[in-house]
Amino acid sequence: MLDPETIGQIAAGEVIERPLSVVKELVENALDADATRIAVRVRGGGLVEIEVADDGIGIAPDELRLAPTRHATSKIVDASGLARVDTLGFRGEGLASVAAVAAVTIVSRTAGAEIATAIEASGETVGEPRPVAGPPGTRVVVRDLFGNVPVRREYLRSPSAEFGRIASWLATLALAYPHVGFTLEHDGKTAFAFPPGDDLAPRLRHVFGASSTAMLPVHADERYAGVRGWVSSPGDDRPDRRNQVLFVNGRLLRSTLVSGAWHAAYRTFAMVGRHPYGVLYVTVPPNEVDPNVHPTKSDVRLRHGERVVAVVKDAIAGALRRGAIERLERSISFAPPARESAALASAIDWTETLAAAETALPGNAPHGVAAKPALRVLAQVDRTYILATDGEAVVLIDQHAAHERIVFEQLGANARAQATAETLLIPYFFEVRPEEADRLEASLDALAASGLHIEHFGERAYRVTATPARLVHAGRTRPFDVADFIECLGDEVRGLDADQRVWASLACHSVVVAGERLEYPEMTALVERLQRCENPMHCPHGRPTIVRLDPDRIARLFKRM
Ligand code: ADP
Ligand code: MG
Repeated sequence: MLDPETIGQIAAGEVIERPLSVVKELVENALDADATRIAVRVRGGGLVEIEVADDGIGIAPDELRLAPTRHATSKIVDASGLARVDTLGFRGEGLASVAAVAAVTIVSRTAGAEIATAIEASGETVGEPRPVAGPPGTRVVVRDLFGNVPVRREYLRSPSAEFGRIASWLATLALAYPHVGFTLEHDGKTAFAFPPGDDLAPRLRHVFGASSTAMLPVHADERYAGVRGWVSSPGDDRPDRRNQVLFVNGRLLRSTLVSGAWHAAYRTFAMVGRHPYGVLYVTVPPNEVDPNVHPTKSDVRLRHGERVVAVVKDAIAGALRRGAIERLERSISFAPPARESAALASAIDWTETLAAAETALPGNAPHGVAAKPALRVLAQVDRTYILATDGEAVVLIDQHAAHERIVFEQLGANARAQATAETLLIPYFFEVRPEEADRLEASLDALAASGLHIEHFGERAYRVTATPARLVHAGRTRPFDVADFIECLGDEVRGLDADQRVWASLACHSVVVAGERLEYPEMTALVERLQRCENPMHCPHGRPTIVRLDPDRIARLFKRM
């Protein structure tokens, strides 16, 4: 027969795995107590001391002894009420579990009381309440965590790693409680201090980094679910899945279904293999979600999952569409630099005369079929896009994606035509790391077929002896980043075979990039060559090359409809 102390420790072990678990229990209690400020202080990664102080409703002196007792909770109602709770805690195990594996002091004062009351709890022992000085609210201090279960300590990582978990969880949680101020300290140093209020920006920036300023707001209210949040715009996405934060009814949870919906909404806007980041707040009626699922172990269960997914997907797709339009509006309102405005002026001039010529010569198109109207280049925008028009719509072309498409098709054509390569007078030598060598070796045939001849040259050295013929570089040379190119060779791209993957990587690394200033003739050449591509609309990785803003869309921007 196990003694109560041991039973307590075993039960606690399921709830309290590491210092972060303590912080979670205490912070959730503070939120349930309607705190507007929560201060977390940690020492030695949480093993030495954790203190959470709040300004919430407090615990009445006569209830204080019960708080650290198992199954004591002020939050549940009855067995049927279990599924309807809208508080974060409800099992009454939090404080008892912490006390089972540490020495706990609780100091609390309710709004009406003149003085605070303190109590100590450790293991199964709960001390006598005693009056102390203290502000309204509750302060819980946890010392010597796992002091009585040394084996637990062995599972833990370094104090700084344990603190890291605490910091990232708390900052993430803070995203869902903007009206609560949060501060976090480690060994006397402030990690962050988020003031309470409407401004989520400091929190978004802390969690998602500097690019958070470009995040797009998500907003939808449907019958089965409400969705709010902030998502990254395409292009700001990341190669890994971290940083997709989901709250369901205020709880930080995981959901494969919701992440799936997020990706689905995103896919049409972004490159394959990239992941959006951001935070979503999903609200469903409380009885639609099962809160009993352990948040870190498995997915949240949603009763009408498919409906929630549909709402999330539409909401995000809407946000991305609006984002694309706004981005366009913003880029158009920028005054072009002097040189470009000259080009713009002459281009407009030129389009007008051209339009006049066209009306003067009807039926000019070959075989009596209306030719696809040529795109007229007007200007470069943000050194990244080419602004053009076909006389009807505003057209934006992504200069890098477009050039990638052109070179990709050229490489394929070279391979099919067995085009001769241009032999280099002086071979170019480079070295690769051992792990890159395999990848490069596997691609040598495909590269040679398209005209890039690379030979093994002892150990880890290779040499380039010939480059693809007819590969136009928009009239400029740029350093070719071999390491990056080889890394890119390993990327899976849906819909491309092995050879095409190699050409896509080569294309990506030998063309103009975003941020590069293009001269007017370069832009016209690029656009003209893009129009002659088999698939001008997408780059080899699946990103769009051309965005059309048709007259309807323009009219809407001007509120004409
Ligand atoms: P639960 O949160 O599941 O109710 P806990 O063991 O975490 O269980 O807390 C037990 C009870 O102690 C709570 O129901 C609440 O009444 C009280 N309590 C705990 N922490 C606080 C706090 N920070 N402010 C006010 N009351 C608290
Ligand atoms: Mg609790």
